[in-house]
Amino acid sequence: MRHTIYHIIMSMLLLCAAPAAMAKDFTVVIDPGHGGKDAGALGTRTNEKTINLKVALKLKEMLEKEMDDTKVEMTRSTDVFVPLQKRADFANNKHADIFVSIHANSISSKSPMHRKINGAAVYTLGLDRSDTNLSVAMRENEVMKLEADYSTTYQGFDPSSTESYIAFEMMQHKNMDQSIALAEAVQNQLVRTAGRKNNGVRQAPFWVLVRTSMPSILVELDFICNPTMETFMASDAGSTKLARAIYNGIERYRNASGVTSKKYPAHKRAVKPVSTPEPEPECSSDETSPSCKPADASAIVYKIQFLTAPTVIRQGDKRFKGLKDVESYRDGGAVKYTYGSYPSVNAAASDLKKVKTKFPDAFVIKTRDGKRIK
Ligand SMILES: [Zn+2]
Repeated sequence: MRHTIYHIIMSMLLLCAAPAAMAKDFTVVIDPGHGGKDAGALGTRTNEKTINLKVALKLKEMLEKEMDDTKVEMTRSTDVFVPLQKRADFANNKHADIFVSIHANSISSKSPMHRKINGAAVYTLGLDRSDTNLSVAMRENEVMKLEADYSTTYQGFDPSSTESYIAFEMMQHKNMDQSIALAEAVQNQLVRTAGRKNNGVRQAPFWVLVRTSMPSILVELDFICNPTMETFMASDAGSTKLARAIYNGIERYRNASGVTSKKYPAHKRAVKPVSTPEPEPECSSDETSPSCKPADASAIVYKIQFLTAPTVIRQGDKRFKGLKDVESYRDGGAVKYTYGSYPSVNAAASDLKKVKTKFPDAFVIKTRDGKRIK
């Protein structure tokens, strides 16, 4: 008997100890852009691959030393060539909670702004039709041409042909909300902590971001073609500030999205809606139930949110999958698309079911004056 009790106690202790032993709840994959035969953009004294790695290694150290329960995986820790597809595969295999690709920007030496342009920008996946954003992605995607069998690996994709990018328009990153939240947090800190000019959160079709299945961003620290910015990024103090900025951004993102729970790692929760409003008693205008507040309720409308995109999509677009009279509202850097308007959550239920057959992640939101409220 005593033996049995001993066993029960021991197994309870082991059960309690188990989560602690495997607790590394938050996995960050840091992806220092370029490497090896691919130097990335060139400065006058150094190159992009060197700056990216320096900042990435500092960020790794900060995360490992200072952020609780955080595991860091690097797509490269030395000066080696890693194909784009392998970087994304790596992050997926590690079940990363977030993917942070680090780069330095550059523009053509023919541009009169070549030595003057400056500022940081954080990108999420998307097809922005502006030439500037597309050209940044084209330059970063160009590295796939350094692989002998690139046209097989990337399914005939030609990084330097504008037509190739049309297919990207159909791609919806399922973690777009979280990616934008992370991008905004990091961008903010690149300005506040690292003193960079704010070039904003942007969207562009980066191959490495298409293939990742977790919230993913690509950071362009600053412009290496501007000698002053190059000196800053290459310096010890500068690279430390940049790493600190990304660290602070990740920390704020993590705090804001509550990704601290040991039970529900972010990569598992990411596919679910950020929040679903609590059901409220159904009210109609001629009802005077004490649980209804007609004055407030008249202004509140429930809608079915089914899609997030970086840009405005026109009515009748294929991406709406046949849904008509779609409405939208802006939220941070994204445009959120909604269907229908209902006086209550319950009233939206049967349409929600229908919308979910086309958009499984659709959920009901509460709005007032066309804006989401919580
Ligand atoms: Zn790059």
